[in-house]
This record gives sequence, structure tokens and C-alpha cells, in this order.
Amino acid sequence: MTNLQIHILGFPRIGAARELKTALERHWRGESPAAELEQTGRELRARHWALQRAAGLDHVTVGDFAFYDHVANHIQLLGCEPARFGFTPEQDALQRYFAMARGDTGHDAHTDCGHGHACQQGAALEMTKWFDTNYHYLVPEFAADTAFSLHAGRLLAEVAEARALGHPAKAVLLGPLTFLWLGKEKGAVSFDRLSLLDSLLPVYGALLAQLKGAGVDWVQIDEPILGLDLPSAWRNAFEPTYWQLSQAGASLLLATYFSPLEENLSLACRLPVAGLHVDGVRAAHELTSVADWLPGHKVLSVGIVDGRNVWRTDLDAALAVLRPLREKRAGALWLSTSCSLLHVPFSLERETQLAPDIRSWLAFATEKLDELAVLRATLAGAGAADTTAALAAARSAVASRHASPRVHNAAVAARLASLAPQSDQRASPFPQRQAVQRERLGLPAFPTTTIGSFPQTAEIRAARASHKRGQLDAASYERTMLAHIADAVHRQEQLGLDVLVHGEAERNDMVEYFGEQLDGFAFTQYGWVQSYGSRCVKPPLIYGDVARPQPMTVAWTAHAQRLTERPMKGMLTGPVTILQWSFVRNDQPRATTARQIALAIRDEVADLEQAGIAIIQIDEPALREGLPLRRARWDEYLDWATGAFRLTAAVAADSTQIHTHMCYAEFNDILPQIAAMDADVITIETSRSDMELLAGFGQFRYPNEIGPGVYDIHSPRVPDTQQMVRLLRKASAVIAPDQLWVNPDCGLKTRGWHETEEALRNMVAAARQLREEQ
Ligand code: GLN
Ligand code: ZN
Repeated sequence: MTNLQIHILGFPRIGAARELKTALERHWRGESPAAELEQTGRELRARHWALQRAAGLDHVTVGDFAFYDHVANHIQLLGCEPARFGFTPEQDALQRYFAMARGDTGHDAHTDCGHGHACQQGAALEMTKWFDTNYHYLVPEFAADTAFSLHAGRLLAEVAEARALGHPAKAVLLGPLTFLWLGKEKGAVSFDRLSLLDSLLPVYGALLAQLKGAGVDWVQIDEPILGLDLPSAWRNAFEPTYWQLSQAGASLLLATYFSPLEENLSLACRLPVAGLHVDGVRAAHELTSVADWLPGHKVLSVGIVDGRNVWRTDLDAALAVLRPLREKRAGALWLSTSCSLLHVPFSLERETQLAPDIRSWLAFATEKLDELAVLRATLAGAGAADTTAALAAARSAVASRHASPRVHNAAVAARLASLAPQSDQRASPFPQRQAVQRERLGLPAFPTTTIGSFPQTAEIRAARASHKRGQLDAASYERTMLAHIADAVHRQEQLGLDVLVHGEAERNDMVEYFGEQLDGFAFTQYGWVQSYGSRCVKPPLIYGDVARPQPMTVAWTAHAQRLTERPMKGMLTGPVTILQWSFVRNDQPRATTARQIALAIRDEVADLEQAGIAIIQIDEPALREGLPLRRARWDEYLDWATGAFRLTAAVAADSTQIHTHMCYAEFNDILPQIAAMDADVITIETSRSDMELLAGFGQFRYPNEIGPGVYDIHSPRVPDTQQMVRLLRKASAVIAPDQLWVNPDCGLKTRGWHETEEALRNMVAAARQLREEQ
């Protein structure tokens, strides 16, 4: 069967029961020595390799494991730890690794640095999203004089472990061009990090030679940037790079994923490597071209099983794609997952609470291994009884999903189909709405507000946990939450804020809270996916047409409004964010699912309005994250994404003020589309950019009202009034003062009450000072 092999690009490293998380956090708390952590790592690798071999994979993948992040592993592997950490060679490598990941004061700098932004020296490496996933990697820092050197001890030890267990090993590396691309230039001297390639390649060459010497059969070298719009200098660097690397004598499988190759397709096919992996899900339409272009002696690896989603593969459809490829190609055909399985949960095995039919529609990482085995066996014509049975089971699960009344709700489809074209337009243009709203709300200049959540105290979390365990009954839970809401309202009145919020005490998470109340959503018990380091998220699964059986937030919000004379802002999560932070259906376009969610949230907007709520915020922090990797597809996405937002909001009367909120984002390249969302007020995170982000809004002459965040909520440090006054003056210089709101960067749920109250007191004082200056 050597001509038809199966493999994966990588496996989740967190463990079936998040063993890695537990071990890491114990170690960081000083409760276990490094040796114990290393032992957990070895056990997890051994277990994950055993699963791969048990499923019949031809190689195990080595090098996908990391104690924090695989990019951080490469920083050490290639000897380019940033000089600013001041590491000495005597310092233990694992300690240096965690210092880069978490800051060298030992705290988790990403959640709670506590030192403010002046703290740079030993500050953790920046984190950013891995392509268009929700995984975050640590950003390599390069300086003009960055030098590279090989430190392959850890990787070679893992290879040796796999070999000692009797597994044929395929090592995985980030390719040199992707590694440089993912990094950032730092330091006083300006330079182009691509210029470091010449000094990086010899290190890769030596590494490949060592891997070959260590008995590695194949090296999977990941160059996902081949799916991006690359500047020509980067494209042109591929051929010489791979000519040089081919000298090392290792068999290279060049892996691309997440995006079609398009203009890089023929380049990828002609690089001097032994094989090419392509994403058979996102680049399905390119498979035939790749099969034609790729020289016959090379391995074609087809990522036919989706590594980004949780659905069981339609094996018949997959076989229909694979059969012609097999006929076409004399050389080897490998079957694989579209990308690493890092982005899906570990296994369905322990999911006992999912409805059996929904469960049967799913395949997590472990189940995807078995799918590869069935595909291979069927394609090879080795129709053993168990293969036939597996194929039949898959077929009936797929058929049951297609036909299920749980998935298809005729009323939802009919409602979407019959929407009037004007449904996503407010009744009047903004200036008219603004006048009516000002009349109704009577707010001062520079109105103050917050973004929604107030501290999720230990008390609140304990109450929720005990309610979930069944120890606290529904009525007592509700009473407890109402008391927290009343407390938040009272504190805001004392502080003198103008527009209040109820504080979101009753919400576990801004997406889960809504998903749990909507039709079409399911929740797993253990479906964790690594977000960064030891942090995992458990995204909801959207399996069916989305509908809202009943109001979700009205009772809480109306209760809060009854406690105060001031306007109480209703708080909703927008359709794009709900979509973006869930596993979504693959049997209809994302745009359709977004519109269904939009209708459900739209009903909530209407009900809040009915209940007398005059201001409603619809959060869309994930809008920008959804941008496709290729620019050419941005417009299409932005069109339906902003359309879904408008569809949600447009049910509101002119006199209802619609807010939206976005964080961690640059907006300057999508300002026309942000403006097209037509929210009456947008609040954004800007304090960390010293209001620089706002300049773009000013130049663009952003027409509606804006609340640029005046302080960073990631730090417990209390901002002083003058600092916020300075930021507000700066904002007033680029945006007309009567368009400005005053608010923090984001929600305050991770903060404590003490610092929150002090910060808001100063914020209100800053707004008052600005009013006096008018
Ligand atoms: N309303 C949410 C909150 O305040 C918004 C969170 C977010 O933007 N990520 O927590
Ligand atoms: Zn935010």
C-alpha cells in the first residue's frame, strides 16, 4: 500500500482531558518540577502517536507537540530568542521558553500583566491569531542583527521517542519563509526580515540533515503562506530556498493549507520537494490542476478530511473526488486532513450528553483518523467487512443529517426568503435618527458609558457553578443574579455614569449565553480547542437552522431598567461574532447561517425596544477576524457580514439608539464597511494605540457617533483623570466633539470592583472636564 498512504498534519496536544493544561498550570504555580511536566509531555505524545498508529496511519507526526506554542518552539529550535530578554546560555531552556511566552516575571502577561505598557523588557512575546483560526501564536521578533543557530535537542529527542516506540516518524517543521513571515521587525534599525533568509537557510539545512540522520523518513515542511497574497519578493524567494534545502537529502513534503494556492499553484508544484500537500476542503477546486501540474514522481497529499470543522466526512463525496485523482496520478497519493487537527476537539468518546443523532454527525480529531483509514481501504479496493460496515455507518449518518427535522426549520427558511429588501435599513438616515435620539435621551456632551460586563466576581462564578451542579435551584440562582445586577446599577449611579448597563452577571460567555437559548445550537462537554498556552475554548456547534423560541435577555434588562431613571443599555452579541466563535454548518453558506442568527437577534432587539429599552448594543468584536485570507474575497465577506449586522439592528425605530462594540482590531482598511453598518454609536478599543486608531475615522469623516476607549481594561492599573483628558482632547482634534462618547476599551468582567470603581470615577471626572472646556 505504499502508493496510497494516510497521515495527518498534526494532532491536538492539549490531551483528551486537557492533561497538558493541568500539568502546565501546576508547574507554573510551582507545584511540580519541570521533570514532571516533561513526563506529561512524553505521555501525551506517546498516547497520541499510539492513536495514529492504531488507526493505521503510515507515519506518526513528530514536532507538532509544544508546551505553549509551536511557533515558540521554532524560536528556540532556530536559536533566535529576542535579545531583550537578556537570556544567558546557562539559563534552563524551558524556563526561557516560558519567559518568552508569559513574560519573565512569571505571570500570565496576556491576561493580566499588571505592569502597564511601560513594562517592555521582559514582557511576553506578542500573540496574534494563527491565520484565520482562533489559535494564537507567539510572534517571533527579528532585528537586523538576528542570528540563527540550531538547537534541535528537543525535536530530536521526540523523534527518538517515536522511533523507540516503533513508529515510523514524519517530522513537521514550519518552513523558513512562513517562519519569517509570521515574525515582526523590531529594533531601531529599519530592515526587511526577508533579508534574514540567507542566514536562516543553513540552519534549516543542518536541521534537515540531522533529522535524516535520526531516521526520519519524511519531513513535512509547512508553508501555509503560499495561500496568501504574497509580495513578489517573498514569492520569488521560494525557488532558491527550496533548491538550497533540497541539498540536505531529506524527503520533504511541502504542506499548504487554509487557502487556495491560486497564483502560487504552479510555483508550489514545481518546487524541488518530494511531495506537496494541498487543502482538499478550502482548495477543493484546485485539486485537478494540482494533480495535472505536479510532476508524476512526486507525492500528492490531499487534505480531504476537514481539519477546521467537526462534521463527519461525507465519505462518498470524498471518494468521488479521490478516485479520479488516483487514476490521473502514477505517483503516490496520500490522504490526509486539510490542516493540523489542532483546531478541532480531541474525541467524541466522552460526549455522553449530545443527542445521539447529532453525535453521529460529528467527527473530532480521533474520529477523523478513522475516516482516513476507511477512505484508504475503500480506495485501495480492500473492502474488508469492517470497512464496508464503517462506510455504511458513515453514509447513514450523513443521510440522517441531511434529512433531519432538527436541521431544517421551514419557518426559518420561509422567513429569510420573504424578507423585504429594505429589512436591513433603518427607517431614516442617521442625522434624523440622531436628532430624535437626542431629544429622547437628553444626554450631556461626552456621554459616559461602559461596554457591558462588570466584574465576574468569585461569588458570581460560584453561584453559577453550583446552579450548574444542581445544588442551587433556578429561583435562588435568579435571585442571586438579580442582586448582583442591582448592585452594579447602584454603583454606576453613584459613579455618575450617564448610560448604564446591567453588568452581564448572568452570562457565562457572550456567545454561549445566546447559543444555549437558540434552536440549532449544541454544546459539548469536553470539546475543548487550544486557544493559546494552557487556554482552551469550547465553541458551540451550530448544526441546524437558527431560531429564537423566546426572549433571551429582556427580563434581566427590563429588571435593571426598573431600578434606575437613567437609560439602561440592552446588551446583545451580534450575528457575526456568534458565527465566528462557533463551529458552523458546512451544508449551507456561512452567510446564510449569519442571516439566520441575525433574525433571531433582531427579534430580541424588537422585544427589548417593546420593553422600553432606548439603547441597545450589539457587540461585534469578531467582525474583523472573519476576513478571508485573500483580499479578493474581502468584499464579499464584508458585504454579508455587515448586512447581517444591519438586519439585526434595522428593526429598531429611529428613536432607539443602536450601539456596536469592537475590540482588538485595526479598522482603517475597512472603514467604509464599518460605516455601512450604520450603528448610531460604535465603541472601539483605542487606548493602547494612544488614539492613533481614531485618526483613520477622522480622515474618513466617519459619520456616526464614536466612543474611543479611554483606558485599557487588560490591566488592573487605575488610569488617572488627566491621562484620559489628554486622550479625549486628542480624540476631539480628529472627531467632532459632539460625536464623541467616553468609555473604557472593553468590558470589565476580568477586573475587580475596587479598581473598576476608581477607574470609572476618574473617567467620569475626565468627561466632566471636557464638558467644561467646551
Ligand atoms: N459586552 C461584552 C463585555 O462587556 C463585550 C466583550 C467583547 O467585546 N469581547 O464583556
Ligand atoms: Zn471588547
